[in-house]
Amino acid sequence: MSKAPEEEHPVKAFGWAARDSSGHLSPFNFSRRETGEEDVRFKVLYCGICHTDLHIIKNEWGFSHYPVVPGHEIVGEVTEIGSKVKKVKVGDKVGVGCLVGACHSCENCKNDLESYCPSLIYSYASTYHDGTRTYGGYSDSMVANERYVVRFPDSLPLDAGAPLLCAGITVYSPLKYFGLAEPGKHVGIVGLGGLGHVAVKFAKAFGAKVTVISTSPSKKNEALQHLGADSFLVSKDQDQMEAARGTLDGIIDTVSAVHSILPFLGLLKSHGKLVLVGIPDKPLELPVFPIIMGRKTVAGSSIGGMKETQEMIDFAGQHNITAEIEVIPMDYVNKAMERLAKNDVRYRFVIDIGNSLAASKP
Ligand SMILES: [Zn+2]
Ligand SMILES: [Zn+2]
Repeated sequence: MSKAPEEEHPVKAFGWAARDSSGHLSPFNFSRRETGEEDVRFKVLYCGICHTDLHIIKNEWGFSHYPVVPGHEIVGEVTEIGSKVKKVKVGDKVGVGCLVGACHSCENCKNDLESYCPSLIYSYASTYHDGTRTYGGYSDSMVANERYVVRFPDSLPLDAGAPLLCAGITVYSPLKYFGLAEPGKHVGIVGLGGLGHVAVKFAKAFGAKVTVISTSPSKKNEALQHLGADSFLVSKDQDQMEAARGTLDGIIDTVSAVHSILPFLGLLKSHGKLVLVGIPDKPLELPVFPIIMGRKTVAGSSIGGMKETQEMIDFAGQHNITAEIEVIPMDYVNKAMERLAKNDVRYRFVIDIGNSLAASKP
């Protein structure tokens, strides 16, 4: 376990890693395990950049261990499978999202809810069953137990489909679980970023009526005309917010900055649900009175289990749901991180690993 990342495992790998909390990414040689009997190995072709990647490379949550190879929206083509693998074959298009392992014996795992397993293993910056560190998708290859490998439908483009593996399932799962994924429901989406813009697309595909709630009036045209939302509220506009009072069955709140949830509770009908999926770095204030008076629910949700992730990707394939992306070469990644920190992206960066990683090798 004290071996250098290059010598830990038998298979050579190359990627980009952050070495300290500056978060600066640079070329990195490491290694990956051999293909076990339940493992799927694939050549990485694209990897999305999630806001979590930025938090982890800069150690903003305080638990990062360096070096970190980020990336948990990983797609590519299968190059080798273990003898017991049934799900995919060599040449298939596949993806790996946020998870690569869990205990498989707890109540959550037995119910296909690996994302709530107390022993879950993240795709990077986590410790695998064998005691070695996990490394993510800013790299040439990936190997994972087949349970954590998602089959990509032919109709879904790999680049614009990649972000669904984190952003997509993070919003799909609560829409389903909280009963908002059906015609006749009126759903609010707070924040029109990486998560919010795919939330609009999924909610519309489920047949719900969708209202986007944003601090920025500049996103109105985009929300209504491009993403297909039914209405748009500027959260700072008291008159608009008052007029929409008590109209929503549920809200998916994607904001990861500290913010007040009071105005959103006001938009809910009685028994409405406010579901938080963004992670502010400080606790939010909980206004109890409006929750009690309308028997409202404030809840959270974290990605989704592997069965549901496959269901989400298949649904996206059927309904042509993809993320809006800006494809970048590997050596643009540090600039992309700077822009992401300023929310200067519509709406997700995706690294073209297949065409640009090898050229970045020193
Ligand atoms: Zn993510
Ligand atoms: Zn478990």
